[in-house]
Amino acid sequence: MGRRSNVRAPVVGACLVLAWASALGASEFQTNDLRHLFPGTTGELRASAISGNPPAAEVTLDGASIGYALSTHAITGSLGFSGRPLDVHVGLKHDGRIAGARLVSHEEPILVIGVSPKDLEAFVSGLAGLDVRKAISVGTGGGRKKDALDHVAGATVSSAVIKDAMLRSARAVAISRGLFGERAQPGEVDRATFAAKDWQQLLGEGAIAARRVTHGEVARGPGSTGGEPGGLFIDLYAALLTPPMIGQNLLGRPAFEQLGGRLAADEHAVLIAASGLYSFKGTAWRQTGVFDRVQLVQGARTIALRADMHDNVERLAVASGPKLREIGIFRISSSAGFDPTAPWRVELIVENQTGRGEAASAIFTLEYKIPGQLVLMPPVGTSEFGNASPLKQSAELWEQIWRSRTTEIAVVVAMLIALAGILFSHDVLVRDVARYQATRLVFLSATLLFLGFYAGAQLSVVNVITFVHAILSGFRWEQFLLDPLIFILWSFVALALLFWGRGVFCGWLCPFGALQELLNKGGRKLGIKQVELPWALHERLWPIKYVAFLLILGVSFKSLTQAFVISEIEPFKTTITLKLAREWPYVVYTLALLAGGLFIERFYCRYLCPLGAALAIPARLRLFEWLKRRPQCGRECRICAVTCTVQAINPLGQIVPNECIYCLQCQANYYDASTCLPLKQRAQRRAGIAAQSPGLPTSRDEADD
Ligand code: SF4
Ligand code: SF4
Repeated sequence: MGRRSNVRAPVVGACLVLAWASALGASEFQTNDLRHLFPGTTGELRASAISGNPPAAEVTLDGASIGYALSTHAITGSLGFSGRPLDVHVGLKHDGRIAGARLVSHEEPILVIGVSPKDLEAFVSGLAGLDVRKAISVGTGGGRKKDALDHVAGATVSSAVIKDAMLRSARAVAISRGLFGERAQPGEVDRATFAAKDWQQLLGEGAIAARRVTHGEVARGPGSTGGEPGGLFIDLYAALLTPPMIGQNLLGRPAFEQLGGRLAADEHAVLIAASGLYSFKGTAWRQTGVFDRVQLVQGARTIALRADMHDNVERLAVASGPKLREIGIFRISSSAGFDPTAPWRVELIVENQTGRGEAASAIFTLEYKIPGQLVLMPPVGTSEFGNASPLKQSAELWEQIWRSRTTEIAVVVAMLIALAGILFSHDVLVRDVARYQATRLVFLSATLLFLGFYAGAQLSVVNVITFVHAILSGFRWEQFLLDPLIFILWSFVALALLFWGRGVFCGWLCPFGALQELLNKGGRKLGIKQVELPWALHERLWPIKYVAFLLILGVSFKSLTQAFVISEIEPFKTTITLKLAREWPYVVYTLALLAGGLFIERFYCRYLCPLGAALAIPARLRLFEWLKRRPQCGRECRICAVTCTVQAINPLGQIVPNECIYCLQCQANYYDASTCLPLKQRAQRRAGIAAQSPGLPTSRDEADD
């Protein structure tokens, strides 16, 4: 879990300087920078000019190479959660571990304001010690020191993005500079290059592996050495057919193309062939479906060869090849764990009789490794490790994040299903006032405690601004998928705006809105008197929130960072994300808003909230009007206007849709015979008429209801 520094120096200026102090993709690393990237070193640190693919500078200490310095933006084009460029300089040691790192530029909203430079520094430099050769999830430690931060408090997604950019860039450099050792070629098989070669040439280059087994070896077992070799038992051959350099030469072009048509995208073809007395296929596979005399092994994984993977081949087309008794092609899927670029072996299983007449099996292995020239080094930007595409980078990262948050996702989805049920059947729910109030209390509590304080799923005007800019500058789903809860909530709210307007979010899913309402309810119970502003003043204060939203949006076109600063009008980060652990001006501002909300329910929502305004604008498209009013509303009765959570009912008794938060209080009133004045009057009339003429309705209004 992340921890938070208690020292919170003013951060805005520092972060703005941080954001632009360094040009993206530095052309060379300065000594001062190198001290951060290789902390604790004493002596003369120098960096060569940045070169190579991916670009990196070799770093020397007193003339001896100690590793590489690299820029994540130069290598992977790293983007932040905001969709804006982000650059971390990283020091990478020869043992594949990160020596140190420095965040040199970013435009992450939560990091621009709200997180102190000290916390950021601690997080980024705390990633020192990560072994980039290991599979590391963005949420795991990866062998670094135990007291390092997993993420910056309140900035989980941005932290994951930073860590991901560092790992990918460092891996790309590690691979290209040979730091992965033996298994240094996690590239692709070359499926394009072809040059005519005969059997001997392929054999000489290692494209075909061969092993001869004699009768003598079989008699003594596979481990025996020396002695009379005896006659030929089997000459076994193996080759990877996928590259045309091997497959097309061995099979001939027509057969190779035919084979290509049969291979699925993730399949590779392995050739096993033999001459000699022993049949590696045997006959049992025709009954059992599995070859019992031969199997393929890679690392710790044994891949059984089955009949459905097998194609029999009568002869090879390659020139100067040996006379073969048996030839088989086996199609092997990568999903079986087979990596064509890594070494593998064919194991030949020979059942033998011991001297005492017991059966014993001997295994003879034929090792194979695809020649290095037939493995393409991953061009940085397309590979699993050296990914220069910000889109792919995010695509993999968001999948990791979604997998790590399945429980939270399930709870949010359950909440949204429940909310849809409540809103679609609200006129049933509100007929029982106690049931309605209990439902609302439970839901708002879940919104505040789970969505807000636990999961940090507070939508913000920053999301709206980021979305607008993404639309204008090239929309990428992957950027928005990085935070699953925010993505799910936004998707739901966007759809639900058409049904219920902004109220679906403001009334039910906004943690800060829920906090204000719950506090106000508590305050009323304690006897706090409510203030009702005169309607004329009330409606003239509404535009403030629209102005705030338009100001933030307008400024964002000039400077996103400045827009994020202005968006601090939202107390969400202070209250929900950082739980009041901020500099005192932010805390005082937030407490003042909450105090105001004790006297004027949802004071902030009514007049100041730019997100509420941003949601109200598209909510004009609302297709349905499901909230009921009576002809008497506003004329004879003002109870709903007085009890409305946000004073969204005008003096004429009409609901102002832009302001309504769909709390359903007026609908509970509508059906409550002890509250609604027309219902009370009707009951009285009924009682009077019933006394004179039982069974007759007194008006059309009554007949309808
Ligand atoms: S108006 Fe703002 S604070 Fe209030 S509920 Fe809506 S989004 Fe939340
Ligand atoms: S009381 Fe009625 S009009 Fe007022 S916010 Fe709730 S649903 Fe909307």
